[in-house]
Amino acid sequence: MPSERLSPELVDLPKGWVPALTRGLRCRCPRCGEAGLFRAWLKPVERCPHCRQDWSVQQADDFPAYIGIFVVGHLLAPVVIAMISGGISAWLTLAIILPVAIVMLLAMLQPTKGAVIGFLWWHGIGAFRQERRAQTPEDAE
Ligand SMILES: [Zn+2]
Repeated sequence: MPSERLSPELVDLPKGWVPALTRGLRCRCPRCGEAGLFRAWLKPVERCPHCRQDWSVQQADDFPAYIGIFVVGHLLAPVVIAMISGGISAWLTLAIILPVAIVMLLAMLQPTKGAVIGFLWWHGIGAFRQERRAQTPEDAE
């Protein structure tokens, strides 16, 4: 199998950072959108089987987890306040909220990591090289 990635003319590159991020959010390759981005839960494929983009160089690190904690915290904080002020004991609130928070975090970790990788790739951050689709007349409209 060739190790060089497909040239941009042969790949449906995203039009902007939002489509690149959305492809990652759907756990698809941000560059081509044709193949899966992950070979295991949080392990990206070494290379995209379709466009041959090297994903082993990604450096999402802990950022997806920080985003997850931020989002889940903001979603559940009003629920905790409502439960406590509604007369439910702190221990029962903890017993209900803790498993919910863990499930929500685990569920959003892979899509969040995909989105972060898509964002990093689009902006050429770290070892990624920035590339853009050729301008066509319909893009200029
Ligand atoms: Zn690809």
